[in-house]
Amino acid sequence: MTDKTLHIVGGGMAGSEAAWQAANLGINVVLHEMRPAVETFAHQTGNFGEMVCSNSFRSDDDEQNAVGLLHWEMRAANGLIMASADEHKLPAGGALAVDREAFAEHITAKLKSHPNVSVEYGEITDLPDDGMWIFATGPLTSPKLGEAIAKETGTDRLAFFDAIAPIVYAESIDMDVAWLQSRYDKGETEEEQKAYLNCPMTKDQYEAFIDALLAADKTEFHEGETAGYFDGCLPIEVMAERGRETLRHGPMKPIGLTNAHKPEEKAYAVVQLRRDNALGTLYNIVGFQTKMKYGAQTEVFKMIPGLENASFARLGGIHRNTFLNSPTLLDDQMRLKSRPNIRFAGQVTGVEGYVESSAMGLLAGRLAAAELLGVEMGPPPGTTAMGALIHHITGGAEAKTFQPMNVNFGLFPPLDGMRGGRKGRKERYKGYTDRAKEEFTQWLEAQS
Ligand SMILES: Cc1cc2nc3c(=O)[nH]c(=O)nc-3n(C[C@H](O)[C@H](O)[C@H](O)COP(=O)(O)OP(=O)(O)OC[C@H]3O[C@@H](n4cnc5c(N)ncnc54)[C@H](O)[C@@H]3O)c2cc1C
Repeated sequence: MTDKTLHIVGGGMAGSEAAWQAANLGINVVLHEMRPAVETFAHQTGNFGEMVCSNSFRSDDDEQNAVGLLHWEMRAANGLIMASADEHKLPAGGALAVDREAFAEHITAKLKSHPNVSVEYGEITDLPDDGMWIFATGPLTSPKLGEAIAKETGTDRLAFFDAIAPIVYAESIDMDVAWLQSRYDKGETEEEQKAYLNCPMTKDQYEAFIDALLAADKTEFHEGETAGYFDGCLPIEVMAERGRETLRHGPMKPIGLTNAHKPEEKAYAVVQLRRDNALGTLYNIVGFQTKMKYGAQTEVFKMIPGLENASFARLGGIHRNTFLNSPTLLDDQMRLKSRPNIRFAGQVTGVEGYVESSAMGLLAGRLAAAELLGVEMGPPPGTTAMGALIHHITGGAEAKTFQPMNVNFGLFPPLDGMRGGRKGRKERYKGYTDRAKEEFTQWLEAQS
């Protein structure tokens, strides 16, 4: 008889959800958790499903918001995280906020009382050769395990920090101001020669931008967060602090670029944006990792000519975060290509946030269970929120510049016949969520 045991490492958002899903499908789950004996700098308890910071699962609007849609999909799939959140919900307008202690206690009790789940406390420090495993060890994966993962993947494919540059919806960029061109028109093909989107600045605009950067509200680093960080990737406001011209000689240098709208005008500085997904719906602002607070970011970035009406798929940030270069390392079953007995789930796969991490746990739990049961099963289609995310991290994202991603409509394949731009947005989002619900339901039904 085949061994139907699944080991899951990490009882956070993803590991708890993965355990619940697999156990409900009849799999014996051993859930390994290092807390409370081994601590992280952010967790406070030994409970499963502990929320390390905010107590919000963000928008619960499943018609107009991609996060709300992910809630809907997880509820449809009998998700433990969503059921616990609904049970311990607090009033928060359109957002889903919870009583964090009651929420985590509920998850812990549900898992501990499940007949198919056993819990083993202790740190796992290696990638095992035998058995089926899911590693859901999160952004604060223990250092020893981090080392073991890096040994397997190569150190350049496991990051210990994220340095996220803001990501903008392509449709919200003013193309009467911005133009497409790679520096010095580099590249063999026209696509490569036009790989970047450029936003020009005059001297006055540049000076005002630097003033705003220097004055903006910034987030402080957590204790223990900065070690080893600053070598690679300075936040733009830190570069600006080093000298007003630093950015103009760094990520905002204007050389090798000609304004397609005003070829005779030489820009004083240029902000470049690079395509962030295969669909071409998202662009990231190159080199603009930042510790500015979210409110300040939108204000400051909208000063960039061409981005006055920008909509942000995600804002920038810099955090302690262990994550894989999933586009190169994982297959679409979330298995490590070099060690198919090992899956990864949650934030360590390069998604960001409680909701996204739980969703990736749900998927990994179901995929692993199907494999153990000898049932063929693929991920949900890319038209669903869960499918859009998994397709992004295991294929659609640019591997070279891969940074953690939130769920957003920019990851969804466009809908035929829908109006683009801001005006058509409400109808388009409803179209995305209607399509997703139908196709997610079909995906679920195919498994029953
Ligand atoms: C400081 C901080 C603040 C954050 N704030 C927010 C926020 O406000 N909102 C939001 O949506 N997201 C936030 N995040 C991101 C958040 O961590 C994720 O959204 C979510 O918790 C990730 O879920 P996960 O299951 O992947 O990881 P986690 O929830 O962190 O779970 C991982 C689990 O694995 C365990 N573990 C680690 N290594 C080992 C090992 N070697 N052996 C055994 N067990 C191990 C850990 O103890 C932990 O229980 C924050 C992250 C950090 C670090």
